Amino acid sequence: MDLRASISLLVLLLGLSKALPVMEDSDENEIFLEESDSVDLTTQILSTNNASSELLVEGDLVVPRTRNAMACWNNQCLWKKSSNGKVEVPYTVNSQFSSSDKSKIQNAMATFNRKTCVQFVARSTQRDYISIENRDGCFSSLGRTGGKQVVSLQKRGCVYHGIIQHELNHALGFYHEQTRSDRDKYVKINWNYINSRKLHSLPSILTQTDRNECRP
Ligand SMILES: [Zn+2]
Repeated sequence: MDLRASISLLVLLLGLSKALPVMEDSDENEIFLEESDSVDLTTQILSTNNASSELLVEGDLVVPRTRNAMACWNNQCLWKKSSNGKVEVPYTVNSQFSSSDKSKIQNAMATFNRKTCVQFVARSTQRDYISIENRDGCFSSLGRTGGKQVVSLQKRGCVYHGIIQHELNHALGFYHEQTRSDRDKYVKINWNYINSRKLHSLPSILTQTDRNECRP
């Protein structure tokens, strides 16, 4: 594994503790953690995206075209919370997915719906929505971009419970853990192991730590 891959692995690895919060559930959703989900999701995402033609940062984030940085200033990338406290996120699933793939995607969404204020709902006419597509890798934009935004789950390599949740978390506005502004309170980075030319891979982005918090 070359240095670049090593750094990317570190980046994603550090992000998993936050990006896969519901993986620790011990309820009936565990049944969806099939044997194939026992793969190392970080390695899986990176190896799948290694051949991707998409311009990605931190391994699986789409470089924004509507913003000039990987940051969510003034919470503009957040999905709107309605008066009932729910955050509705409309979605569509491309017809290329098999029924098995679709059920995995919907099971991953169902966990969010049941455990959090986020409610993934089938899109009707909403302007802003997530389009889940079988594109070139596992990736997402960071937060709501406005209009249609693609969450890519390449059929060969990305349709795992944990990876689906990981990419959906990005679409909700979650950063990788190591780029949060408060990361140094919680994560110890062994800087001496990182090539100085690669330090730009670990910026600390100003984030609002609890912005996806659903509690009143
Ligand atoms: Zn990620």
